[in-house]
Amino acid sequence: MKQSLKILFATPEAVPFAKTGGLADVAGALPKYLQPLGCELILVMPYYRMVKQSGFPIQYLGEGLEIPLGDEILRADLYLGELKQGIPVYFIGRDEFFDREYLYSTPRGDYFDNAERFIFFTRAVLHLARHLNFSPDVIHHHEWQTGLIPAYLKSIYVNEPLFEHTATVFTIHNIAYQGLFKKEKLALTGLPVEMYNPEGIEFWERINLMKAGIVYADAINTVSQKYSEEIQTPEYGYGLEGILRKRKEDLYGILNGVDYQDWDPARDPHLIARYDLKDLSGKRECKKDLLKEYGLPPSLEGVPLFGMISRLADQKGFDLLAEIIDQLFSLDIGFVLLGTGEQKYHDLFGQIARKYPQKAGIRITYDDRLAHKIEAGADLFLMPSKYEPCGLNQIYSLKYGTIPIVRATGGLDDTITDYDPLTGIGNGFKFSRYDSREFLNQIKRAIDFYAQPDHWMKLIRNAMSSDFSWQRSAEAYLQLYRKALEKKKGGHPFGN
Ligand code: ADP
Repeated sequence: MKQSLKILFATPEAVPFAKTGGLADVAGALPKYLQPLGCELILVMPYYRMVKQSGFPIQYLGEGLEIPLGDEILRADLYLGELKQGIPVYFIGRDEFFDREYLYSTPRGDYFDNAERFIFFTRAVLHLARHLNFSPDVIHHHEWQTGLIPAYLKSIYVNEPLFEHTATVFTIHNIAYQGLFKKEKLALTGLPVEMYNPEGIEFWERINLMKAGIVYADAINTVSQKYSEEIQTPEYGYGLEGILRKRKEDLYGILNGVDYQDWDPARDPHLIARYDLKDLSGKRECKKDLLKEYGLPPSLEGVPLFGMISRLADQKGFDLLAEIIDQLFSLDIGFVLLGTGEQKYHDLFGQIARKYPQKAGIRITYDDRLAHKIEAGADLFLMPSKYEPCGLNQIYSLKYGTIPIVRATGGLDDTITDYDPLTGIGNGFKFSRYDSREFLNQIKRAIDFYAQPDHWMKLIRNAMSSDFSWQRSAEAYLQLYRKALEKKKGGHPFGN
């Protein structure tokens, strides 16, 4: 077996260049952990306005690619930057598609031409490989935006020598976002019409780009074991549970790791004071600093401070929070939120800020620096998600000694163990049913333990010593790449 693998990593977002959620953290970190395991990697992502404005050195390569899109041939400009450790990141540029304020959608909804934008991007990924003469052992591609890649490899590019040995691994980070478009958009892809059927990329008379990834990739995975099981059920599968069950032999769950280079209170440059388990005094300084940042009264220093950092989307359980707002704020607590997303939640949190100005700090924006300050300065972190493929914030919270209260779903269930005062085991608080009373009960339980320093110290110790570093997950991905290669060699259940 070959020692080193050539991996093309195709992603719609990656830290530090452009991010809307956890996928960007994964795409920016995993390659750095695969490289020492013997992988030669290149990353490919769109050249968004956010990338232009990121301030990182990015070079215009002065060359372009000719990308077919429907009846047209469109030019893609090429740019080059790098991740740490010198991993090349190629950016696919076309201002008409990517020079916009947001990546996929505005607070009012999706961009109208997302099909054009990401079919173009997907095709450009393959043409870039050709242009660079980069023959990947594996194309590891992420989310609906790149879902068509294996459909292309099994059709238009099936005889291309460059991809002759290339296996595909498709990672689902969130199955609720599928890239569903009118069937007329199929013509943009250039794919043979035979692929448009219920066993292929058709989904109730529309095209579904995520389904393409699920049907045609050699191996599929999602970002926690629990979520890989949940999405095979109607409650969590968003209509794709049947096709996932069909491919369950090739479906894996690999928990995301955390990049402790970026998320570690002992060396976090965003914090006013740093701390570790041996000396937690810095955490108190961070709490003071956070209250100041939000203009909240210093008297809140002595009460439990709850934090939330989130996309403001239905998935995250804000309806449970909305149901218990008055009960929550009748308790002796503080609350800080950082998030952007749907307008209805902007309105909800606007109301909360007006009603409870002495207890609630609300920031409707995206701010990485403030996210770090919340992780350090809060005492507890709330994630009552309806579903959560992996969730990163609860894992960051653990490292910062900020105790998570979560609903037992997806990666939240895989990473958080409910605290048991008898054994002293557990790193957070967990409830099962999607029910605001259960959520409130866990909040009250947490406040009780907060008032008992022995228990609280145990919780902090358990949390801060939980280890979710990338090394382990990177090794699991390497094994998955090898399985995909085996699968590719052995033929595919869906044929070409
Ligand atoms: P998801 O991918 O569903 O949004 P995750 O928990 O996997 O959820 O990842 C969210 C990531 O995005 C975390 O790194 C979190 O800190 C970050 N994040 C979310 N909203 C904001 C925001 N408003 N400002 C800064 N960071 C944010």
